[in-house]
Amino acid sequence: MRGWTGHHSRSRRGNGVTGDMEEDYYTKARKAMVRQQIAARGVDDPRVLEAMSKVPRHLFVPAHLADRAYDDSPLPIGEGQTISQPYMVAWMTELLRLEKDSRVLEIGTGSGYQAAVLCELAREVFTIEKIPELAREAERRLSSLGYRNFRVRVGDGTLGWPEEAPFDGIIVTAGAPSVPQPLTEQLAEGGRLVIPVGPSGMQMLTVIERRGGGFTHSEEGSCVFVPLVGEHGWKRGRGHRLE
Ligand code: SAM
Repeated sequence: MRGWTGHHSRSRRGNGVTGDMEEDYYTKARKAMVRQQIAARGVDDPRVLEAMSKVPRHLFVPAHLADRAYDDSPLPIGEGQTISQPYMVAWMTELLRLEKDSRVLEIGTGSGYQAAVLCELAREVFTIEKIPELAREAERRLSSLGYRNFRVRVGDGTLGWPEEAPFDGIIVTAGAPSVPQPLTEQLAEGGRLVIPVGPSGMQMLTVIERRGGGFTHSEEGSCVFVPLVGEHGWKRGRGHRLE
């Protein structure tokens, strides 16, 4: 993948043969990513695999990192933040168990990539980002790719989006010290909250489901995320990083 660097900036701006070749290259890289990093590790929901095969991840990373967009790792997106590893995006999305008419809330818009995957799968996507520059850029990207079923808000996502609640799914793409209560309160009956919970070096990917007036809780595996900073999250400044 890295060998493509020399061609990247030229064809992104222009059309024609070089651009077509590059799109073919990225399409192949994306299919390989889905096969080798995602399906091979056990994600088997066909709708999730299709969405991951479709969303052009190379358009969600800084231009100089586009040739690494399909690598098996998170990447920096500026402001001390990251776009998550592709497998992590697919795994968390599968855990949400979205249906076509689901309404879903994401906390931590970042690049907008996870939101694009959600837009492919759900009826409405609400996403909250605390850093205004990232929120604006993500909104611009999602619109330019033709997505219309999303809304971006700048703010503290640990408070949720009460005016739009309840949600069938809530996904938190930053690591929380504990489960923010406003988020569980904003789950619909049968809704699922997928959230990394734990200390800053490593968290447990946790799923909370609202059922019959109560909540079930399961731990799915370990993960490492940048911190969820807010009223019901960590109290540190935005420059803090884990990786
Ligand atoms: N989902 C993103 C994507 O697809 O690119 C990656 C998210 S990145 C790992 C975590 C994001 O959570 C950062 O952009 C960070 O600014 C944001 N964040 C952290 N605390 C937040 C909060 N309380 N409310 C909203 N966003 C928050």
